[in-house]
Amino acid sequence: MILLDGKATADDIKREIALVVDKIVSEGGKVPHLAAILVGEDGASQTYVGHKEKACAQVGFRSTLLRFPSDISEEFLLAQIDKINNDNEIDGLIVQLPLPPHISEQKVTEAIDPSKDVDGFHPVNVGKMVLGLQSFVSATPWGIIELLKRYDIETSGKNCVIIGRSNIVGRPMANLLSQKSKPGDCTVTMCHSRTKDLREHTLKADIIVAALGVPGFLKGDMVKEGAVVIDVGITRVKADNKSGFRLIGDVLFDEVAPKCSYITPVPGGVGPMTIISLLKNTLIAAEK
Ligand code: NAD
Repeated sequence: MILLDGKATADDIKREIALVVDKIVSEGGKVPHLAAILVGEDGASQTYVGHKEKACAQVGFRSTLLRFPSDISEEFLLAQIDKINNDNEIDGLIVQLPLPPHISEQKVTEAIDPSKDVDGFHPVNVGKMVLGLQSFVSATPWGIIELLKRYDIETSGKNCVIIGRSNIVGRPMANLLSQKSKPGDCTVTMCHSRTKDLREHTLKADIIVAALGVPGFLKGDMVKEGAVVIDVGITRVKADNKSGFRLIGDVLFDEVAPKCSYITPVPGGVGPMTIISLLKNTLIAAEK
């Protein structure tokens, strides 16, 4: 069993991006600049945005964090997005989700200029991705594709089961892995909360991507020998440590790992790769 080390792979890619930034700077170019909007005080969101800012600093990007209280109006938020859309100094914009319930996430996503939508959530980018055109691909699926690529994992002709059909993970993942590309060319089955006898599907899978947010869902008896298992799930549970919590994946690692050819750990697997794709997309946005 080989552990797919997302942390080490992400560090490699950060070094590659930092070299590109050095070159841009030495040639007198503009440093890529990512803006993030954070609304409210959600603890997990603050942590994620903090990680993104830190990653920007590590590769030499500029980053700007705009924080607003949870009672701002939708209109106010849309006006801030419009300002950033028209700010030539800023290359990429992300709005950390979830937003307070009185603000429409769909409206906010659609308000971001697709050329600055480095999260790849705008319908224009999603549509282009589905058609296999150049686009900003949403962070987690891109990170997984890159991890498969860097470990040279054969995907062509493989049976792949994705568990979860969300717009940010399961659905784009299924699309990317079914495309005529490398990694890709898989025969994809997308399972979800209404799937009957899910185990029947996972037992046939050469590659499983678990993205449902149910800790320890994928058990040893649901996986065939030699499978590649990608664990996207991150559920915070209270723990007696410094941070007060720990992260649990969707895969029951101790049971599943001995059967796998490759598996991602949680933490240190998909998570660090997700942040990298934001950096990569911001670099592309800046180069444009
Ligand atoms: P979501 O809640 O939007 O979607 C979950 C999906 O799982 C749904 O499509 C649902 O149909 C399916 N599902 C739920 N229960 C199921 C069951 N019992 N059997 C089969 N399918 C079931 O979640 P999401 O945003 O796609 O995130 C999924 C998980 O991945 C969460 O734990 C989230 O925190 C994590 N996540 C991690 C990263 C990362 O960087 N590592 C990024 C995004 C999401």
